[in-house]
Amino acid sequence: MDKEFEFLVEEILRAKHVSGEGLRRVLECSDGEEEILFAAAREVAERYFSKEIYLRGLIEFTSYCKNDCFYCGIRRGNGKAERYRLTEEEILSCCESGEALGFRTFVLQGGEDPYFKDDRICSIVSAIRERHPHCAVTLSIGERSCESYRRFFEAGAERYLLRHETADEAHYRRLHPAEMSLENRKKCLYDLKAIGFQVGCGIMVGTPYQTMEHIHEDIVFMLELEPHMIGIGPFIAHKDTPFGSEPDGSVKRTLRLLAVLRLLFPKVLLPATTALGTADPMGREKGILAGANVLMPNLSPPDVRGKYLLYDGKICTGEGAAECSSCLRQRVERIGYHVSDTRGDHPDFMKSSGE
Ligand code: SAH
Repeated sequence: MDKEFEFLVEEILRAKHVSGEGLRRVLECSDGEEEILFAAAREVAERYFSKEIYLRGLIEFTSYCKNDCFYCGIRRGNGKAERYRLTEEEILSCCESGEALGFRTFVLQGGEDPYFKDDRICSIVSAIRERHPHCAVTLSIGERSCESYRRFFEAGAERYLLRHETADEAHYRRLHPAEMSLENRKKCLYDLKAIGFQVGCGIMVGTPYQTMEHIHEDIVFMLELEPHMIGIGPFIAHKDTPFGSEPDGSVKRTLRLLAVLRLLFPKVLLPATTALGTADPMGREKGILAGANVLMPNLSPPDVRGKYLLYDGKICTGEGAAECSSCLRQRVERIGYHVSDTRGDHPDFMKSSGE
């Protein structure tokens, strides 16, 4: 019986394809089989990344959002969410301490906040690149025009994270209000790629109404997009959203999906996310042991951390950047991996790595 499962894992890796049936078989495997899956995923990750883990300093610079996604704690309709914006100076000071802590990538993430017009974003990005020429800037600020994305790229941003959330039209409709569209989100991802960004898509595992078929559609979409990064984490309910009493996504399923993604996309940058660490105290370690190779510790100033709450129970809201960084470094060492001191570009974008 194990042989059959081993063949399936090998076949996914060899063919860079998984059928709907195959995916179900893997996501519903036994605990013993899971070890075969995870070991294969670790071996593939090691082929390209050895045992190096890339750190990204996450700066959550605005909790204002014009969108009303049903799952998200900072959605416009949540009147209880505390709103804040960091100034350019505050963002730069996060980067300052971040570089001193050894980070070589800064991820600027926020709600879709109209205050941060293109000019403001460009000014922030170019100031960071000027002061930290050996560091990469990743943006994660939602849907904008192709022209805006081009300007961000020219200002020095080289990576962009925009989870597609679900590749199924009907499922997308059940997670978002009518004014948002999957078509535009996918278009943004293709625009970003065409401009030359290292692009990240991704989903939450276990969002309401999600089926195995949806996850399979997500994989089909990812195989077509060929992203450089894939962000996945379990859905975690936020009490002040329409999905406040929905069950959380499964950690087990998230880990197994991480492993499948590693087999399908050997070189992809694959984070063990904060949501995974929130759903399980050892979630991020388990993610690495299932094939992930990126961690994104929080670099936001401590006084705003408790306000960027996409979901309930978020970890690391009471700590400072230095604690988060040293805690994660220890966690990585404890499972036999170590933190890289490079920018951690995608292997196909090695032009400026090693700095
Ligand atoms: N405004 C940006 C950043 C969104 S926050 C954008 O649109 O891309 C980053 C990610 O957090 C989202 O893409 C979503 O997948 C995830 N997220 C939001 N609410 C969540 C929840 N309740 N549980 C788990 N993850 C969530």
